[in-house]
Amino acid sequence: MKTIAAIATPPAVGGIAVIRVSGPCALQIADRVFTSVSGVPLSQRRGYTASYGSFHSADGILDDGVALVFRSPKSYTGEDVAELSCHGGVYVARAVLRAVLDAGASLADPGEFTKRAFLNGKLSLSQAEAVADLIGAGNAQALGAARAQAGGALSRRIQQLRESLLNLAGHLSAWVDYPEEDIPQLEEGALADSLRQGLEVLDGLLASFDTGRFLREGIDTVIVGKPNVGKSTLMNLLAGCTRSIVTEIAGTTRDIVEDTVSLDELILRLSDTAGIRSTADPVERLGVELARSRLDTAELILAVFDGSAPLEQEDFQLLELLEGRPVIGLVNKGDLELRLSVKELEDRLDSVTVLSALEGEGLDTLKEAIRRKLGLLKLDPAGGILSTERQRECARSARGSLWEAISALEAGMTLDAVTVSLEEAISALRELDGDRVTEEVVNRVFSRFCVGK
Ligand code: GDP
Repeated sequence: MKTIAAIATPPAVGGIAVIRVSGPCALQIADRVFTSVSGVPLSQRRGYTASYGSFHSADGILDDGVALVFRSPKSYTGEDVAELSCHGGVYVARAVLRAVLDAGASLADPGEFTKRAFLNGKLSLSQAEAVADLIGAGNAQALGAARAQAGGALSRRIQQLRESLLNLAGHLSAWVDYPEEDIPQLEEGALADSLRQGLEVLDGLLASFDTGRFLREGIDTVIVGKPNVGKSTLMNLLAGCTRSIVTEIAGTTRDIVEDTVSLDELILRLSDTAGIRSTADPVERLGVELARSRLDTAELILAVFDGSAPLEQEDFQLLELLEGRPVIGLVNKGDLELRLSVKELEDRLDSVTVLSALEGEGLDTLKEAIRRKLGLLKLDPAGGILSTERQRECARSARGSLWEAISALEAGMTLDAVTVSLEEAISALRELDGDRVTEEVVNRVFSRFCVGK
């Protein structure tokens, strides 16, 4: 096994920079570039100790700083690790890294430290994936979810499910293979119940993927409504609420997002906002294919109505277009006398909120409505959620196999057939947590990481 090294801090000027070295020769290699003031070599120090001293290359002293020693298995990677902290100049850090490489280490690939942690059993694959999410977390909720995940919340949930399916499969095969033995027969109803419970767990996890994604990447949102209902005023109100700077997420192909606003943990990615301001005719605006396709892809539609006037034909046309979509009806101008029948609106939309965009009232109710609409209230990161496409694929495949097992049972097929599907489901769950993954999958997971992690 090679000893690897990389700069673990960002390639920028900062207070300190950390060069991480991991592998069987980490401490010996670090000794070649670091001399402690105490004179004790790092390779003779115990784990979890810090030494102050100087870094040097063949050409002389580079910098002074601190070296931390971690002893296998009690380190991030599970191997011997030295972390060398020098001054945070780009040149200094590179010079120390170069000295470490010259002393015998190889440059680490992106994510290779975390990959070693996974291969050494320090982390499951889903925990390792969560490390990438931790680094990328843009708000408190996403951070909370990533932390729970890194702590193994998803792994535990998957393991529980796998255990219960394994028990069932074991029972079934024993019973099929040794019919003459006195193994109590599983009652078909109880078997179907257990399978259905598994299906429920997987359905919950699959739903958590979308909700989790809303928190990480934001909610693709469209505001619609006829002219003068207050769409621009609402936009301005929302824009005024933007407190955190939200960065664009690389690799997400979406329509042009003109405004990204954040309401607490909710990040709304509002597109088509120019259309809101410029197009006078809502029927034309809503009738064109472009608007339709925006409605098709939107994850949330805020449909604005003027509360100070009864619903009219244009509103009804809009409501027709919105049928079956993720809509929250906003009765605006709540500061004026209410002339719109909220009941009439509630007959057509399952979520209706009264607010005043002008006065900025009703925002909290709107936030609650959004959370409820998108299932964010039900999201329990501590219980484990799916956070990558890879995890979702595995969960879907496990769900498909479980469903086949249930169908086979209901169709009165042999228990053999049920067992086969059950084992497929177990194998998909194994893959989800990295128990049985190909090298290609592992490499793909770690390619998302930065060098030095
Ligand atoms: P849009 O055409 O849907 O974008 O509507 P605007 O945002 O331009 O608003 C149209 C008119 O309604 C403007 O005069 C706004 O000041 C007014 N308006 C918008 N929201 C409210 C509100 O909550 N209360 C009151 N009283 N007037 C509002």
